[in-house]
Amino acid sequence: MEKNEKNNLANVAKRNLFISNYSLLPKNMKIYIQNNIQNMDYKSLKTFVDVLISGYKNGDPATIKIVENFHKIDSVLKIILQDSLTPRSSKFLDLNRIKNNGFVAILNEIGGNEGIFAHELGHALLTIVDGINMPEEFSHIIFEIKESWSKNPQKLESFLQEARNYQENIYEKAKKDTEKIMEYNKADIESFIEKNLSDQNLLRKTLEQFYEKNKVDEIIKSSNTNQIKNIIMTSYRNEWGNHHFEELCNSDETMQIYQVLCGIIDSIYTGDNPYYTSIYDNGFLRTHPSSYFHKFPTNSFNEQFADYTRIKFCNMKVVIEIGKVLLGEAWFFMMETKFQQIANQLEQKTFGYDFDQGIQTQKFLEETFKNIK
Ligand SMILES: [Zn+2]
Repeated sequence: MEKNEKNNLANVAKRNLFISNYSLLPKNMKIYIQNNIQNMDYKSLKTFVDVLISGYKNGDPATIKIVENFHKIDSVLKIILQDSLTPRSSKFLDLNRIKNNGFVAILNEIGGNEGIFAHELGHALLTIVDGINMPEEFSHIIFEIKESWSKNPQKLESFLQEARNYQENIYEKAKKDTEKIMEYNKADIESFIEKNLSDQNLLRKTLEQFYEKNKVDEIIKSSNTNQIKNIIMTSYRNEWGNHHFEELCNSDETMQIYQVLCGIIDSIYTGDNPYYTSIYDNGFLRTHPSSYFHKFPTNSFNEQFADYTRIKFCNMKVVIEIGKVLLGEAWFFMMETKFQQIANQLEQKTFGYDFDQGIQTQKFLEETFKNIK
């Protein structure tokens, strides 16, 4: 990003801060944000503040402690918040930034909701404050949960079925909406396609939004006018449909509940859930492939803790209710213990992560977060 552009964003952010939740933040957090505002874009900053305030207002002592002490992270790392232009991905660490002694919370342009942000915040807390120390009882508790599901799969299966049906309805709605939008804009779309067909450069540019250069060459060489028309039409239909589907999922409260619980279940099975059968490939109930979970032994716990942080900061009471039935009390007790421990460590500024180790730290981070999302 150009320096000027960055300054402009920072100015917009400054102006808008006073009409957001910002005024409710503890004083130290306000100072912290003011000191770091050059590193933050407005949308991410607003989401960050909203998440902190949502946690601050939920009345839970550990969450409040984290909000009140979050600025202490500044002593070890600068926080950098920025948009990612890649749809459908959000992550909290960016290796280039770590090299400059900073960490990043990245949100995608559509998916940047508070829940996703809170999840990434969980990764950040676990890594920076805790140094990713898995609780001793973790593997035992996971083993017990899987045992109880395999003995009585019906409970889990019916939950997953419910989640799938819910997602399917949203998917159908997204498809219908998209058709309506296409129908409504038919004349514009058709004249745009006609323009494409008479201008090779424009046609290339349009197709390159969706396909690799080689594939674009192939399409242009081997398709007739009608086929090209269809290809452009279908590409836009899919693109808009997927975006709209994501938008609907991210703004639907019930879907958020399913998403968090399915994310936890996914992590428990390290991506190999035997009860997922007809899930959409492009759905939001799946999080990471098994290769991701097998890459690093702490990834499963890391994802579950990130989801727990989301439950806490977004005050997801229904998730706790359903979760206690599905996962049992022990899982919640373990996560809460870790959450409280992190809140205390943050308060005392005892970071589990050794930031002075220089190269060793860098290597560890690169290994650990090569694939964290
Ligand atoms: Zn994650």
